[in-house]
Amino acid sequence: MNYAWPETKFVNKNNMYQQFDHVMSEIDEVNEIGPCGDLNRLVEELMDLHHSLETYFRILERDISPQYVCRRQAAVLRKNRDRGYCVGSSSADCGEEDQ
Ligand SMILES: [Mg+2]
Repeated sequence: MNYAWPETKFVNKNNMYQQFDHVMSEIDEVNEIGPCGDLNRLVEELMDLHHSLETYFRILERDISPQYVCRRQAAVLRKNRDRGYCVGSSSADCGEEDQ
């Protein structure tokens, strides 16, 4: 999986459940600001959420496998492409056929 953010120390510290709780706490922070709140704070908290999600996926790569995460990404990409959401042609290369 291609990541936008650098790896955090929590990849080696948290398990998937602890990181899930952190993702939820970031969602809470986004909700506290809301869509009409301060735009800078909102965007920064959304970025924080994105970084936290990437940490969650990295933990799944460690505890399950990189192929597992790649296949889930490929499944979502395929679903969203079938729905006509995607305008680009990027694809997830998991190294072997999806199962
Ligand atoms: Mg935050």
